[in-house]
Order: sequence, then structure tokens, then C-alpha cells
Amino acid sequence: MEWDSELFRVTRNLVHSTAARLDMDPNAAHRLLQPDRALIVSVPVRRDDGTVETYTGYRVQHNDTRGPFKGGLRFHPDVDLGEVTALATLMTFKCAVVGVPLGGAKGGIACDPSQFSRAELQRLTRRFTTEIINFIGPDVDIPAPDMGTNPQVMAWIMDTYSQMKGHACNGVVTGKPIELGGSQGRLQATGRGLVYCVVAAAKHLKIDLSQCTASIQGYGNVGHWAGRELERNGVKILALSDVTGAVYNADGLDLKETRKYVLKHGGIKGYPKAEAIDPNDVLTLETDIVVPAAIGGVIDAEVAKNLKCRILAEGANGPVTTEGNEVLLKRQDEIFVIPDILANAGGVTVSYFEWVQGTQNFFWGAKEVNDKLRAIMQKAFKDILQTHVNENMDMRTASMAVGMRKVTDTMKLRGLFP
Ligand code: NAD
Repeated sequence: MEWDSELFRVTRNLVHSTAARLDMDPNAAHRLLQPDRALIVSVPVRRDDGTVETYTGYRVQHNDTRGPFKGGLRFHPDVDLGEVTALATLMTFKCAVVGVPLGGAKGGIACDPSQFSRAELQRLTRRFTTEIINFIGPDVDIPAPDMGTNPQVMAWIMDTYSQMKGHACNGVVTGKPIELGGSQGRLQATGRGLVYCVVAAAKHLKIDLSQCTASIQGYGNVGHWAGRELERNGVKILALSDVTGAVYNADGLDLKETRKYVLKHGGIKGYPKAEAIDPNDVLTLETDIVVPAAIGGVIDAEVAKNLKCRILAEGANGPVTTEGNEVLLKRQDEIFVIPDILANAGGVTVSYFEWVQGTQNFFWGAKEVNDKLRAIMQKAFKDILQTHVNENMDMRTASMAVGMRKVTDTMKLRGLFP
């Protein structure tokens, strides 16, 4: 199987089980399991000491029935064809869940960006961009940041693409710095969107968020901004983790301070106003809300059994394994799951806003962006909650059902070429 990987198996199981639950036409369901195309490239990069190393990069385009391909670029050692394909597949349904007219794609390079100097990272990014240049474009496929990439990386991609085309092409990526045509609120969008869902879930569950606590695994972009928005809603953040370690403070952490510390020291390890804890314990702490916001596959059956939260809000893509999900299905009355394709869809939503603003060369203020994001997230949450309640589906199946129905409806309208 070309696309095989742990995350692809999880995703395939999800597509299969949702299709069966919806009694979906097997021809359509089968089509959704395969990406449209995949590109594997070699990315040679000259290190600062003069040596040349070659990395493997990927861009997978899953389905563009609803609009141009869209999806993040991940720089992480675990990146491989199967993982990128699974993430591209999830993007297709995520875009549909929030109703943006885009398809699903994903890309990445198997590398550890923390081992590169700024100059090396720039060379790696620019070479990768030229390798995939015929695959991407403002009307074709629009990359965005994901794990290990950021607005600066997007700026280098935009510049490389523009140099090759001979004119400025801002629309080729989203998640750009604001000065280059980025959108207000894009950096914060995924974390904020997640919390808009948590607020809606708390209302549904009749929980007072100002009395709640939370722990966050993966204190990066999504983890930080989710934490900040949770703080704004009165939630106390008790624990944070990243690749360097994990910290805990029973009285609550101040995320403006932890951010400053991480920017200065490169990680949360050693943060003085908290005690160090085992990073493996962050997900299973006794907090009302748990936010996995790092890598996939972290909640297996064992972790799922030990979760003590009331709300599991999935910032990371694919954080739950198939076995973990089986346990969560049995624990539905105890743990309310906000699945990844809903919880982290705020990022692609504001990426869509950025693309629209760039196309029109007319930019919106931060309030307008956030108000529109909140409205879209609330509507997506409501649609999925209704499916969950009315059709008696767990939240993950309900979110896949909403996404898959929209994609297959559009596929039927367009018909099969030739
Ligand atoms: P990031 O690189 O900014 O942060 C990732 C964080 O996770 C870092 O702090 C890193 O140290 C930490 N981490 C990595 N491995 C870990 C581990 N094993 N245990 C604990 N921490 C670990 O990345 P991000 O953009 O915040 O993305 C995080 C997750 O959210 C990814 O799964 C990504 O696919 C998903 N996501 C991101 C966006 C976005 O807009 N950035 C949108 C949708 C989904």
C-alpha cells in the first residue's frame, strides 16, 4: 500500500466506518480513500559548514472537488508519504466542515528544523519550493504553516515562487507575515477557533468555564493561542508540555510569561514558576479540558482509558489512534470529544480569509476576522452537534459525516471525468 502509515490507517478506518454508517455509495467512498496525486522530491541543502545533506519532501493533493487544494507544510522528522496523505485527506473534510471552498492537501519535509540555522532553513525552504513549484499556485494549491513551519517560512516560499514567475504572487501561500499580505488573526486562528468550539461545548454541557482547568500538550503555535483564549474565558491552565519537557502549577500558569520564557530559552523546560512533571502525564492530568496540540497518535487505548477530562479538544491532527477511539466511544458520557477536523479548522478558515483578502487586495481588521471566524466555528459546531444528537453518532463520526456528505454531494454534481 503506497500510502500506508499509522495515521493513514486511522484515517482510512474513519472514512470506512463513516461511509458504512451513512450507507454511502461505495464508489464514492472508495474515491475518498485515495489522494488525487502525490509528489516526492529530494531536497539537497548546503549546511553552514559546507557539507550537503539531502532531505525528502512531499506534497500530496487529496481532493479538489470543492475548490483549489489547501493544506499546511510540516517540517518534522516523522514526516512520510503515509502521514502526509492522511493529513491531506483530513484537510478535504476539514475544509468541507467549515464550508470553505477549498480542497485538501498537505506537504512537508522529513527533517528536524531545530537543527538548522536560519540560513540553512531558508535554503531548505527555497529549494523545496522550486521542487514543488509546478504543483502549487494561487488557483491550484496553496500551502500554509503547520508543525515546524511559520510565517517566515511562508514568506520565503512566496518570494521563491514570485522570483520564478517574475512577479509578486502573494496568494501562493497563506499564513504569511501581515506586512506581506498575511491576515490579521491568522497566527492565533487555530487556537482561537478551538476555544470557540470549547465555549460552545461547555454551553451544551452546561459547564461554567470560569471554574475550569486545562492542560495542553504541545506548547507551540496552536497550544499557546488556544491557552491564551482559554485564559480569556477564565480557564486556569495547569500544565504545558513541548519537546523539551512539561511543567505544572496547581494555581495556574500565566501564558504571556511562559511564552516569553519559551522564546528566550527555546522550550518550556526549566520554567521557574512551576514544577517539572513527566511529559507523559500531561494528557491524563485531572483537568476539565485537555488539548493535545502536538503530534498525531498520542492517545492510544491506554491513554484514553486514563483520561480524566470532561472535554477533549483536539488541536493536533489525528491525535487519537483507532484503539484509543474505541475506548473514547465507550466513555462518551464522561468525555466530550471535539474532533480534530472541527477543533483545529480555525486555521484553514482564516487562511481562506487571507486568500480572499489577497485576491481582492482589500484587507480586513482583526475584529472583522475574529467575528467571522467565530461565526463559522459556531455554525460548524452546531451542524456537527445536531448530527451527533439527531443521528445518534459520536462526535468524530458526526464531523466526518458532515464533511464527507458535502464532498460527495459536490462530486456527484460535478460528475466523473471523462
Ligand atoms: P508548532 O511547531 O508551532 O508547535 C508544535 C509543538 O509541539 C512544539 O512546541 C513542539 O515542541 C511540541 N511537540 C512536538 N512533539 C511533541 C511531543 N511528542 N510531546 C509534546 N510536545 C511535542 O506546531 P503547530 O502549528 O502548533 O501545530 C501543532 C499541531 O496542530 C499539529 O498536529 C498540526 O498539524 C496541528 N494544526 C496546526 C494548525 C496551524 O494553523 N498551525 C492548523 C491545524 C492543525
